[in-house]
Amino acid sequence: MSEDERSKMAAVQCCRFCGGALTRFVDLGMSPLCESFLGAEQLDSVERFYPLVAYVCGHCFLVQLHDYVSPKEIFTEYAYFSAFSETWLAHAQSYVGQMTQRLSLSASSRVIELGSNDGYLLQYFVAEGIPVLGIEPAANVAAAAEKRGVPTRVEFFGAPVARGLVGEGIMADLVAGNNVMAQVSDLNSFVAGIKIILKPKGVCTIEFPHLLKTMVGNQFDQIYHEHFSYFSALTVERVFAAHGLMLFDVEELPTHGGSLRVYAAHAERPTYPRQPAVDSLIAREREAGLDRLTTYARFVEQVQATKRKLLRFLIDAKERNKTVAGYGAPGKGNTLLNYCGVRADFLDYTVDRNPYKHGKYLPGTHIPIYPPEHIARTRPDYVLILPWNLKDEIAMQLQYAREWGAQFVVPIPELTIF
Ligand SMILES: [Zn+2]
Repeated sequence: MSEDERSKMAAVQCCRFCGGALTRFVDLGMSPLCESFLGAEQLDSVERFYPLVAYVCGHCFLVQLHDYVSPKEIFTEYAYFSAFSETWLAHAQSYVGQMTQRLSLSASSRVIELGSNDGYLLQYFVAEGIPVLGIEPAANVAAAAEKRGVPTRVEFFGAPVARGLVGEGIMADLVAGNNVMAQVSDLNSFVAGIKIILKPKGVCTIEFPHLLKTMVGNQFDQIYHEHFSYFSALTVERVFAAHGLMLFDVEELPTHGGSLRVYAAHAERPTYPRQPAVDSLIAREREAGLDRLTTYARFVEQVQATKRKLLRFLIDAKERNKTVAGYGAPGKGNTLLNYCGVRADFLDYTVDRNPYKHGKYLPGTHIPIYPPEHIARTRPDYVLILPWNLKDEIAMQLQYAREWGAQFVVPIPELTIF
């Protein structure tokens, strides 16, 4: 597709929230779905690649991908089980304690979680005797939640599902949505549904990776097909306001390289006073230029510089006959490796703690995945840490590799060897 044809296509498709015109934010080339790991028998087959191009709306500044792949195709059978991650469980448990206290939740309340996965979060409310309902589109993951004692509906949440639940007399004192709003293709229906399902004094909390952190921290590998939208607080405020919801508080969290948790309630009934944190965060975003297209246009330069630095390091290491292994097989790693064109010719292999990935290959780049012990067996000169947000934890686990002089490398925010 030529540059002209592509920009024509961008002009045809418009913002999924406000219908405004879209401008190119960053083009990360062609990329397969980042969770579609391949078995050895699939390596000779055709693999589907989609353009990984992010756009920004010139009106509301929502950063977004076209949904080339429908949510049904991605999320109906999903391989990601939240309860496998201990850090994430601890995060969920502390959220439950905090919210139970702040909203005085009890046996007469109800908590609804959107994208409730395997019940990893709602199980802690159940333990407190607080009634819950999970909404989760992936049937296999929802089944795991039911086993945990978390009642779960297999649905894509939106206004029609919300109306159905209200018809059954089900409404929420608390609606929770953690890392789910990015995966919604009909954003307006999703937020309209929250408005419908919230009791008059109900509160909704939504967590998502913070676009400001993504841009300042050069975290372009957070962009992948499974995430249709990328949010700043100023855009989320607009989206919620359009559906009669008002942000009244926000917290900055360290998860996923820097996330936001926003609190919203019905706008027409100001039950909760607006905390100064909301306006001060939005002011910081404006200072950083998130309300100007020129800021977004500059992002591509740092992305391209990162690619050159990573390739320069790999070429140099290979010319010195050094071996380079990867650590981890996260979605973000697949964006990085596909965009940079790094295959097994640069990265001999990668390792991962998840046994489901062993013996499989990374989508697109076909780099083999081994258990972590493979590093001790092969003694590589460098280990490229793909989940760079966990670099301290991983470097600690790999301390033994210092014995043979191995060095660790992170590609983001800037290529660093340590
Ligand atoms: Zn827009």
